[in-house]
Amino acid sequence: MTQKNQCNKCKGICCRYFALPIETPEEKSDFDDIRWFLCHKDITVFVEDGDWYINIKNKCRHLTEKDNRCTIYEKRPNICRKYRHSDCDFSQGEYDYELHFTNDKQMEEYIKIKFDNNVKEKRKVKKKKNKSKK
Ligand code: SF4
Ligand code: SF4
Repeated sequence: MTQKNQCNKCKGICCRYFALPIETPEEKSDFDDIRWFLCHKDITVFVEDGDWYINIKNKCRHLTEKDNRCTIYEKRPNICRKYRHSDCDFSQGEYDYELHFTNDKQMEEYIKIKFDNNVKEKRKVKKKKNKSKK
């Protein structure tokens, strides 16, 4: 399908959000910062090929509501020009993310599992070590 035909059938999905790479979280406080991102409406965070991204759902001001057209098509930014319709949101459907957080509650649970369970494990190991000293 040509780009024109494909885009005519789409509601401009690629013009309704943008995603930016963020630093890979390591410490518990880094994950808590991401939890803060996720407290905000229309923010999601995903991991793809090991890299972390924040996704901001926010329509481009140049996309028309009526027919989903770009009103600055001739001078649209390079990032729009380079976007390949062959593997775009419309043609590929759902992404297969390694991790995908859509709200702060999910991150809260993730932090509990990743860090607090480990703390319990460490405590167990300590106890065992103490026992073996006797
Ligand atoms: S998501 Fe794909 S089909 Fe839809 S407007 Fe963007 S490039 Fe065209
Ligand atoms: S400038 Fe045009 S092509 Fe680029 S995101 Fe906005 S509406 Fe879409």
